[in-house]
Amino acid sequence: MKLPHTGRALADAAPVPYWLDRPERPDPLPPLAGPHDADLLVVGGGYSGLWTALLAKEADPDRDVLLVEAGTCGWAASGRNGGFCAASLTHGLANGVDRFPGEIDELERLGRENLAAIAATVARHDIDCDFERTGELAVAVEPYQLAGLAEDAELARRYGHDVRLLDRDEVRAEVDSPTYLGGMWDRDRVALLDPAKLAWGLRRAALDLGVRLHEHTRVTGLRRDGGALRATTAGGPDGAPGVVRARQVVLATNAFPPLLRRLRAWLVPVYDYALMTEPLTPVQRKAIGWANRQGLADVGNQFHYYRITADGRILFGGYDAVYHYGNRMAPELAQRPATFTALAEHFFTTFPQLAGLRFSHRWGGVIDTCTRFCAFFGTAYEGRLAYAAGFTGLGVGATRFGARVMLDLLGGKETPLTRLDLVRSKPLPFPPEPFRAAGINLTRWSLARADARQGRRNGWLRTLDRLGLGFDS
Ligand SMILES: Cc1cc2nc3c(=O)[nH]c(=O)nc-3n(C[C@H](O)[C@H](O)[C@H](O)COP(=O)(O)OP(=O)(O)OC[C@H]3O[C@@H](n4cnc5c(N)ncnc54)[C@H](O)[C@@H]3O)c2cc1C
Repeated sequence: MKLPHTGRALADAAPVPYWLDRPERPDPLPPLAGPHDADLLVVGGGYSGLWTALLAKEADPDRDVLLVEAGTCGWAASGRNGGFCAASLTHGLANGVDRFPGEIDELERLGRENLAAIAATVARHDIDCDFERTGELAVAVEPYQLAGLAEDAELARRYGHDVRLLDRDEVRAEVDSPTYLGGMWDRDRVALLDPAKLAWGLRRAALDLGVRLHEHTRVTGLRRDGGALRATTAGGPDGAPGVVRARQVVLATNAFPPLLRRLRAWLVPVYDYALMTEPLTPVQRKAIGWANRQGLADVGNQFHYYRITADGRILFGGYDAVYHYGNRMAPELAQRPATFTALAEHFFTTFPQLAGLRFSHRWGGVIDTCTRFCAFFGTAYEGRLAYAAGFTGLGVGATRFGARVMLDLLGGKETPLTRLDLVRSKPLPFPPEPFRAAGINLTRWSLARADARQGRRNGWLRTLDRLGLGFDS
């Protein structure tokens, strides 16, 4: 349905991520130039790289840690996400139960511990990122979704989650949308935070502990150098190259073209999009309720996620998850007018009371999808390099766990983390092009069709389900 006010609502939206478009954004640090040595080189300054550098220094203040970032810390997924910081390490409990039935209890325990440790780090390093333990409210917007929510609630309770199943009136008493038919409020497994402020806070904490950090420094190649690794960089003053000779390297480059060839088979970059509204007036806020400020998500295959910010705006994202042939990534792909129009229409369908509200920002970003939807890990160069990737759309919390795993892998000894099947196993690879794009697009089409047909999955999706394969964001 095309709503008359969506064009107007989007007319002045700035084509940049709201979170990054604020005066708190730190000035960039100088690029690396010339030769350097390090005990540990971290490549990538999103959450994965920042957590790795911080945890490495916290564990051993004498370890010489150097982090290089191709742009500025947090400019990519880490500074443009929804800010849902989930305890789950497995892209949700159901995915974890399906894929790791033998150790899901342990993964749930580690996930809870990870979320608590994030909260503790935020407090210890005084990171001002509006961290709120609000939980997440999943809402059914089609009658067939109610049975799925009840099953999810039962599963969640079995694993000790504090969940409440809400009927139509109860869910509308929390957040008032005429589209809601019921909901499940998971009250302690998700926190909301300000994503860019978390990245900037971790960057500052890492610098305070003595991590050496260079921005606008892209690693262009890696090779062996005796008992160490040698990374060449571009981006120094006037594009001058730099060189780092490091005993150990962590790759924290998410969906970006990987420096290790083998990672290409397991990863596809997928564009996900979001809108931010202006701050709501007290009258607009009263019209929707939302006093408990939960993160919200509807439960279709093509789902929306949305939340309130500290200054009373609404972030509304999701629905489309777009893959470009050949793993293509480019700055212009972060803008997609058709998706923004669809999101704006869905927003006003969800909250017709807010007609007239305008969007201040529109943006997209890339997530690193793999076929099992949760991170995989590994080493290369005789254990001198470790990587973690494939967080899909749920890496805000899980990247800290990924950083711990990478540091354990570099330690070279078996630990409770490196023993996990989650850490030892790999997802099934994606096929090469042109089958990759064909398969992903057929899957996306089938998922949209299932949403339109009361969740009924076609033969293609049922085959993927049997093989444990899929496409998600
Ligand atoms: C729109 C959107 C919404 C999302 N919403 C949520 C959410 O609500 N909750 C959630 O849990 N997850 C969400 N995610 C996913 C989450 O943001 C990511 O899983 C997480 O930020 C990944 O962190 P990262 O450090 O691995 O990657 P990134 O933040 O992408 O960082 C990787 C960094 O590596 C750098 N780099 C790459 N190659 C090189 C190189 N050769 N040399 C030097 N540097 C390099 C890049 O410049 C980049 O800064 C969302 C993602 C998007 C895009």
